[in-house]
Amino acid sequence: MRSRFIPLFFCAAAACAGAATAASLPQAARPPVATLADKPLSERVVAYQIDARFDANKRTLDATEVLIYRNLTGRPQDTFPFHLYLNAFQPTSTFMKEERRDHAKFELKDKYKASAEVKSLEVVGLGDLTSQIRFIAPDDGNPDDRTVFQVKLPRPVAPNESVEFRIAFHDQFGQVFARTGYKRDFIMGAQWFPKIGVWWQGAWNCHQFHATTEFFADFGTYDVKLTVPQNEVVGASGVQVDEVKNADGTKTLTFRGEDIHDFAWTAQPTYHVVEDTFNGSMGSVKIRLLLQPDHVDQAARHLRIMQETMERFDQWYGPYPYKQITVVDPADLRAGGMEYPTLITGDTAWWMPQGLRLVELVVEHEFGHQYWYGMVATNEFEDAWLDEGINSYTECKVLDDIFGKDKSVMDLWGLNEGDDASQRNDYLVAADLDPMSRFAYQYINSSSYADVSYGKTATVLLTLEKVIGEEALKRALHTYFMRYRFAHPTKEDFLRTIEEVSGQNLRWYFDQAVYGTEVLDYEIRRAQSDRLDWYLKDPPKRKKGETTYRTMVLAHRKGDFIFPVEVVIRFDNGEVATEHWDGKDRWVRYTYDKKAKLVSAQLDPDTAVRLDKNFFNNSYTKRADTRASRKLLYYWTWVTQLVAQWLAWLA
Ligand SMILES: [Zn+2]
Repeated sequence: MRSRFIPLFFCAAAACAGAATAASLPQAARPPVATLADKPLSERVVAYQIDARFDANKRTLDATEVLIYRNLTGRPQDTFPFHLYLNAFQPTSTFMKEERRDHAKFELKDKYKASAEVKSLEVVGLGDLTSQIRFIAPDDGNPDDRTVFQVKLPRPVAPNESVEFRIAFHDQFGQVFARTGYKRDFIMGAQWFPKIGVWWQGAWNCHQFHATTEFFADFGTYDVKLTVPQNEVVGASGVQVDEVKNADGTKTLTFRGEDIHDFAWTAQPTYHVVEDTFNGSMGSVKIRLLLQPDHVDQAARHLRIMQETMERFDQWYGPYPYKQITVVDPADLRAGGMEYPTLITGDTAWWMPQGLRLVELVVEHEFGHQYWYGMVATNEFEDAWLDEGINSYTECKVLDDIFGKDKSVMDLWGLNEGDDASQRNDYLVAADLDPMSRFAYQYINSSSYADVSYGKTATVLLTLEKVIGEEALKRALHTYFMRYRFAHPTKEDFLRTIEEVSGQNLRWYFDQAVYGTEVLDYEIRRAQSDRLDWYLKDPPKRKKGETTYRTMVLAHRKGDFIFPVEVVIRFDNGEVATEHWDGKDRWVRYTYDKKAKLVSAQLDPDTAVRLDKNFFNNSYTKRADTRASRKLLYYWTWVTQLVAQWLAWLA
């Protein structure tokens, strides 16, 4: 999700492989639609067949869901947890408890309420188990939270066996304020069906829906039939494979998604559809853009950033293997800036000037998630930074490459800002609150979650370039993507890949940056030149190039974060001394006896150590005017950020 500019709310198979030994249960049915890919890209754990009818007047949905789950857990399983996310939009849910905690003025108006209800649950061969449904709250024990239920089977599903659930459910959508719901005749159908948890690291992983958390699910296939009024323009995950017009004024659209782990859809009668093609290393990909009617003149902006982003991801990190990507411009920005497999939502407004790159920023960001969430499917409840943070880093790289450094977020009215500065500004707010490794729902509050998962992680990776080089980090991301796509890697999988590709032991860095909350702040504490013959009663007149001075520069590590830095000292005869300090001690003093005086002392002259919390104290310059101008530059960056935020909030 793109949360930084959304202050409102968080903001911001089927291939049963024939291996089923069918010890006690009848063989689950195979999905009815032929496979699209030559061979599966992922280990398909789940196969969903959903037949849903959407009532556009009541904003309700009634559906039947057939879920075939392959038990690849290596042990018998008799208890299965499911997410029922829409129940987060109820006053006593954990989601709302957390919203209220972080936003005291928050009110859950009736129009925002939503719910999902399982009408019946049957397991083929075991009968109706509706009465066995129990709501559980594994994260906080909240007895009133109904976002996770589990069902216990009368006998276990053997390893490698498949089990077939048949579920009937009813959704009531609310007006959208966090990703899913309606606005006038717009509907975003996200987190709308009972979704099974993930067996991960020896246990079921099925967290409740929290104010700050996103999602985690297994790969598989989705065959989804959506019945909607005939005037609706529909977009969905996967590709559309069929359309039937019904006599009652509705139509039934069939979508097929393969090797994906979630399914979202949207409908609005007035969507303006624009299509384009991206030709990548795995063939052509259809870009299907659904625009609001008053944003039609922004079609080219959307398509250009999609093309440019897809090209860079393809070249730098790996191929996009799906046949389609659907880009949705939602009617309400609270549904915007979100990612689903092969479907993303953007964010814009009719007045959005070219130089304010919100369109590009959000579309790039959400497309990036196709890699760091869609294919490399990390656990967003626990390791949010692996998705949002890596994605924010690649966002910086891609946008800088397209628009130029220092203007990749904004280049407007003489104000310009780069994405790396924007990420760093977010990090500064929460530098000492939470480690990146914190579970997403255990952060001190939602803003720390965002500032650390996005801004700090991006800044940590940008700073890592200083250690291993930009190219090595790009190669590491490529290796990580190719190795862990269609899998659920852990944070150590990511960190070890960087160490392996760079050939460096980086524990010293990761322990502080990823697992710690140490603050990085270096300063030039003191810098001075003093003539060596100061003690003479009647010293000779100062003469440039003839008088010897003792210059002392004191660099100080103010924070606990240890990081090697460079100190560049310039003298008035043009000489430059470059010192490399490992930063391990609290301070270091450099002393020079020269026939020259100090002009300036500068720590980290390229400001490559992006994690340094305070750039203002990194330099000493003898002439006050240049020092002032540098500080002005930092203030200007800050003002620019404010303007960018303000404009984005208006969107
Ligand atoms: Zn995101």
